[in-house]
Amino acid sequence: MKHRILRSRKRIALVAHDNKKPDLIEWATYNKEALARHELLATGTTGRLLEEELDRPVTKLLSGPLGGDQQIGAQIAEGRIDILVFFWDPMEAQPHDPDIKALLRVAVTWNIPFACDRATADFLLTSPLFQEDYTCLLPDYSAYVRRKI
Ligand code: PGA
Repeated sequence: MKHRILRSRKRIALVAHDNKKPDLIEWATYNKEALARHELLATGTTGRLLEEELDRPVTKLLSGPLGGDQQIGAQIAEGRIDILVFFWDPMEAQPHDPDIKALLRVAVTWNIPFACDRATADFLLTSPLFQEDYTCLLPDYSAYVRRKI
C-alpha cells in the first residue's frame, strides 16, 4: 500500500470564509502554542489576519476567490500539505463555489485529515498524531490511471 509520512512538524493549510474568519482567528490564537512547531500556509486574507494575530510568519497564497483555494488543492494533490483546516460558510453563497467543492474533493481524494468546523479542528489538534509522525495511506488509483479508453 502506498503511503506518505505526515511528519511531526506538519504543513497546515488554513482557509476561512469572511463570516468564519473570527472563528478561525480565535481558534488559532487559543491554540497558538500547539500550532507553533508547525508550518502554516493560508489563502491571502486569512493568512494576513493569522500573521497579524499570531505574530508569526504564515505563507500567504492568493485570496480564495482569486485562485487561493485552487493553489491549496494543487499542493494537496502534490502531497505537499498534511492537514487542512477549512472553515467554510454554510450560510452564504460564495463566488468561488466550484473552487470550494474542488478543494473539499481533492482533500478526500488524497486522504488528508481536514476539519471544516471548530469542534473537528479541536479533535484534530488534540490528537497525539498531530504532534507525531503519521503514516497516511494513499488510495490506490493505479487501475484508474491505467484504464483503457
Ligand atoms: P481569503 O480566502 O482568505 O483570501 O479570504 C478565503 C476564501 O474565501 O476561500
